[in-house]
Amino acid sequence: MKTLSHLIAGHSSHGERFADVYNPALGQVSARVALAGQDDVDAAVAAARAAFPAWAETSPLKRARVMFKFKELLESHALQLAEIISAEHGKVVSDAMGEVQRGLEVVEFACGIPQLLKGEFTEQVGSGIDSHSMRQPLGVVAGITPFNFPAMVPMWMFPVAIACGNTFILKPSERNPSASLFIAGLLQQAGLPDGVFTVLQGDKQAVDGLLTHPDVSAVSFVGSTPIAQYIYETGARHGKRVQALGGAKNHMVVLPDADLDQTVEALVGAAYGSAGERCMAISVVLAVGDIGDALVAKLAERARTLKIGVGGDPAAEMGPLVTRQHLDKVCSYVDSGVAQGASLLVDGRGYRHPGHEDGFFLAPCLFDHVTPEMRIYQEEIFGPVLAVVRVADFDTAINLINSHQYANGTSIFTRSGGAAREFGHRIQVGMVGINVPIPVPMAFHSFGGWKASLFGDHHMHGPEGVRFYTRMKTITSRWPQTLSAEFMMPTMK
Ligand code: NAD
Repeated sequence: MKTLSHLIAGHSSHGERFADVYNPALGQVSARVALAGQDDVDAAVAAARAAFPAWAETSPLKRARVMFKFKELLESHALQLAEIISAEHGKVVSDAMGEVQRGLEVVEFACGIPQLLKGEFTEQVGSGIDSHSMRQPLGVVAGITPFNFPAMVPMWMFPVAIACGNTFILKPSERNPSASLFIAGLLQQAGLPDGVFTVLQGDKQAVDGLLTHPDVSAVSFVGSTPIAQYIYETGARHGKRVQALGGAKNHMVVLPDADLDQTVEALVGAAYGSAGERCMAISVVLAVGDIGDALVAKLAERARTLKIGVGGDPAAEMGPLVTRQHLDKVCSYVDSGVAQGASLLVDGRGYRHPGHEDGFFLAPCLFDHVTPEMRIYQEEIFGPVLAVVRVADFDTAINLINSHQYANGTSIFTRSGGAAREFGHRIQVGMVGINVPIPVPMAFHSFGGWKASLFGDHHMHGPEGVRFYTRMKTITSRWPQTLSAEFMMPTMK
């Protein structure tokens, strides 16, 4: 059986603990992944620490050149990477290609690091005195990532971290670790020195080792809310800078004046694409006023005909869930919705994909008449389950969204500019779409939610990423002809 190891100081290694990695479409074990212990954590941090001084001294221009080379390699290997993702995650290859593209855009952003690291300068802050501020790298930084974007989420982090002059330890999800090793290989080919990018495979032990290690300066995390909160609290207690992105329950508001066909097409893609395993997936529709009946009828029709498929099937619109355990969890949410009185209009439970009968498949599920006290409304399901809540008016829709614990993304479909503007202004959510179902910001903006969807001060990538991975230093200088002692608090004259 294939063993997926750590990559520390440019070399593969593993200890004695392993976990199974599955092919979700087949429902079979495809490899085993090493699970780091404290020795592996110490070795990874030591390698990253040893590589830091030379990398931090490398000019931003030269660091950018490595990023340019990595970008070229990523472009020419995009399909291969997408196939690797699909084989361990289950999402179809066309969807995985989209993931690679969104990650690539962050690499493109990081190629501009000489421009992004330019500081500030004020001449003559006092007579004969100038001041300049600059941003310097932090040291060894770690990224802990979820299963649902095994390439894109790491690429939200490491291109910016590395381009800023840090060394980076990636702890990918143990459910789909291969993408991280493939990416590490491309970085090596791009000329990145050993130790600047490390892959540490593992579970809670690896994470705890990084969170408490005195030589790790900062931790970026993306995953579920309970773990995000734990990462934030534990990392902060150990003196680290932390950004921890958590779970989501993204609502789409559909106003009565929305274009119904467009809205339904947008909704099925946003709810069922990647089998709903996206932090920006739409999982709740707030149907406002009298649009509910027509919307639900069209949605149900479209959900029933959605094309489920495997890997590279070009017609496939969604694939299986990631593991049997996750499939069972999502099904138990569907059971709970039925038990709590919601109307299950489309029931995807029990779906078997022809030729892949052991795969972890769940066909689309659609609930109508969901109410805010139900678990399927309150909790993140992270599967192909869409809940329609009927609301009387626009204000009720806004209040519901603003009362929810999660605040990652939201969107509104309407033809009214006034309503759209008011929505953007009043809504308490980090990323907002106006007639855009999945408003994922481009790489040169930053990504992040509010409330239980993000712990920490900075969003990810874009300008916020540069701020997170650097710290500011301000130098005030004078070149006097003569210097005499001053004993009062210095003021600028
Ligand atoms: P997860 O929280 O289970 O795991 C994320 C990472 O944390 C993994 O690397 C895992 O090994 C590690 N981990 C798990 N349990 C741990 C523990 N007890 N202690 C320390 N580390 C632990 O998340 P997941 O199931 O891999 O991913 C899905 C979740 O990620 C969903 O909640 C989804 O909304 C969220 N997500 C959020 C965003 C965002 O931008 N906000 C993006 C993608 C995914």
